[in-house]
Amino acid sequence: MTDTAPHHPPVTDLAARLSRAQDATRAAGVDALLISPGPDLRYLTGYDAIPLERLTCLVLRPDGDPQIIVPHLERPAALASPIGELGIEVLSWTELENPYAHVAALLPETGQVGLDNHMWAEKVLRLRAAMPGVEQILAGSVLRELRMRKSADEIDALRRAGAAIDRVHAQMGRWLRPGRTEREVGRDIAESIISEGHVRVDFTIVASGPNGASPHHELSDRVIAAGEPVVVDIGGTMPDGYCSDSTRMYVVGAPPAEFAEYYAVLQAAQFAACEHARPGVTAESVDAAARQIIIDAGYGEFFIHRTGHGIGLETHEEPYIVSGNTEVLAAGMAFSVEPGIYLPGQHGARIEDILVCGDLRAERVNLQPRELAIL
Ligand code: ZN
Ligand code: ZN
Repeated sequence: MTDTAPHHPPVTDLAARLSRAQDATRAAGVDALLISPGPDLRYLTGYDAIPLERLTCLVLRPDGDPQIIVPHLERPAALASPIGELGIEVLSWTELENPYAHVAALLPETGQVGLDNHMWAEKVLRLRAAMPGVEQILAGSVLRELRMRKSADEIDALRRAGAAIDRVHAQMGRWLRPGRTEREVGRDIAESIISEGHVRVDFTIVASGPNGASPHHELSDRVIAAGEPVVVDIGGTMPDGYCSDSTRMYVVGAPPAEFAEYYAVLQAAQFAACEHARPGVTAESVDAAARQIIIDAGYGEFFIHRTGHGIGLETHEEPYIVSGNTEVLAAGMAFSVEPGIYLPGQHGARIEDILVCGDLRAERVNLQPRELAIL
């Protein structure tokens, strides 16, 4: 399966994002955003730069043209990205220069800059030393609205990612067999994540029997036995940068009686939260919709994590579906709904779909059946 979607949005869309980010910077009263390689840089410019020790930094002020500081040797790569077409001025520095001083020279000596939430601490501290009179805040506070409210193209990208990971889950019966280890099954899944259209495997959780009670157990050499529930939570990154993430439950043969009982509770909880999620309700109310059903059935203490997380160019981003988050869901938001029940020493279960919020309701992008899959 080849992915025919472009690897970055049209340059006109990127230019519009940059301009909206400038408006948000102005509205926040911030003198500039300083954005290093990572999802924010890719979101704003389409430049998928590799994070390295050498400083690459987009300088985005409310007024005037954006500029980007790059190491001289990265100049051709930057110009080959949409940075070139966007007409962003590329200021390169050589090995003998101090790039932090270059950034400081572009900005006032006092005021406030928003630093990329993903910037390495080493760079944060060097920027602070180069601009001692400037207060540093998180650029995320300025960019979060933009990143959270996804465009129709971004929602399409998440649907493609969801369909790709669904195709992997659909083939689980080929790989998941008693007598094989989690690691062997994980290797087959990883291969399929790539062959179904992703460019990167982000995680392969295959948690059998008691390992299923650890939500982020990845792979071990444990041999899977008949009758053991297996948590399979997998995800990758598509060529356009958007991520997939979906969990389904499998068992070869008949599951233990208690497992079947709480799996029905979990399925009802996951369904209720998906039905509840829509524009106008809070993130925390989606968590509560799932949690209350699990609490009422007596399993509350075994649901040990939040119900979900936002997803886009990062697997985990805002909005977080968690108690205390009063963010009101709105069209364009995308997030997981993934309640779980984990019985230490025995087994565990989780069901996870990614949802995208339209104008009236939220829709799942993962469509594989949510029943316990008996292989
Ligand atoms: Zn997951
Ligand atoms: Zn997830």
